Amino acid sequence: MHLNSENITRFAPSPTGHLHLGHILSMAFVYGIAEKQNAKVLLRIEDHDKERCKEEYVESILKDIEWLGLLPNNWDDIQTKGKEHLYRQSFRTERYKKALAELNLTGETYHCHCSRAEILSRTNALSSKNEELYYDGLCRTENFQSGLVRMVMPSKELVFMDGIQGKCIQNPSMQCGDMLLVDRMQNYTYNFAVVVDDIYDKINVIIRGVDLLSCTARQNYLRDKLGSVEVPLFFHHPLILDSQGQKLSKRLKSTGIASLREAGMKPAEVLGLAFHQAGIIESIQPIDKSKLSPLCQVALP
Ligand code: GLU
Repeated sequence: MHLNSENITRFAPSPTGHLHLGHILSMAFVYGIAEKQNAKVLLRIEDHDKERCKEEYVESILKDIEWLGLLPNNWDDIQTKGKEHLYRQSFRTERYKKALAELNLTGETYHCHCSRAEILSRTNALSSKNEELYYDGLCRTENFQSGLVRMVMPSKELVFMDGIQGKCIQNPSMQCGDMLLVDRMQNYTYNFAVVVDDIYDKINVIIRGVDLLSCTARQNYLRDKLGSVEVPLFFHHPLILDSQGQKLSKRLKSTGIASLREAGMKPAEVLGLAFHQAGIIESIQPIDKSKLSPLCQVALP
C-alpha cells in the first residue's frame, strides 16, 4: 500500500467521442477513491490513436469536466500552458519511441506481418472464447525488420491485487498471446502507451472500469520490463450497462453529458444518475461531488 506517500492517480479519457454517463461514473470513482487514498488526480488525454481521436472531442471533454466541477490537480497547468502542453499522448511520441527502443534491447519484441483476418483464420476458436484476438506467435522466429511490433508474453499465471475485485490471476499468453505494441498504422497501442505514461506520470493508483481488468497483468508485465519496480494499486469499478448488458460506448452515441446539461440537469443530478444507472443507488438522487467516497464502497487490500 502507498498510504501517506505521494499517491497519484489519473482520469484518462480517449477523445474518440463525447463523454457519456459511463465516463461520469468513472470520474466519480477516480475522485472518490483518490480521496480515500490521499491521491492527486491527473487528467491525461489518451489520443494515441490518430485515426479515431478528434480535436473537437478534446474540447468537449475539457468543457464537460469544467462543468462537472471535478477538476484534476493538473487543471491549472492545462489552462495556462495550453491543453496540448503536457499529459497528452499525441505529444509524447519521443517518449514512446525511447521506451520501445529500451524494450527492443531485451530481445523480447519482434515484428509481425499477420493481418487480423489471417490471425482469426488460425485462432478463431480461442479468440472467440477469450473475446479478444489471440495471437499465436507465428512471426516470432521470422526476424522481420518492419511491420507491427509484438512482445513475447511468458507462459505463466501473473497475480495482482485489486481493491474492488480482490486477488486476480491472469495468463496473458493464453488471453491475447504476444501483446501488440505498435499496430498496422504504426500507432502505439493502448496497452503500450498507457504503461509508458503511467510510469512517466508516476501513477501508483489506477482506477478504471472493470472492462479493462483483463489487460492488467499484461500491463504489469510490460511495466516490469520497462524497469518500473512499483506495482500500482488497482481499482476496477463496475460499469453502466445498457438494456442488452453491453457497456455504454461513445461510438454508439450514448447520451452525452452536453445533452443532459442542455436539458437543465445539474452536475450533482448527473452524478446521481450515473450511480443509479450502475445499480449503486436505488433511487435517482443528486450526489454532491464531496460525497463520492462512501459510494465507491471500496474494500481496501
Ligand atoms: N483511455 C482509456 C479509455 O478511455 C482508459 C485507459 C485506462 O484507464 O487505462 O477507456
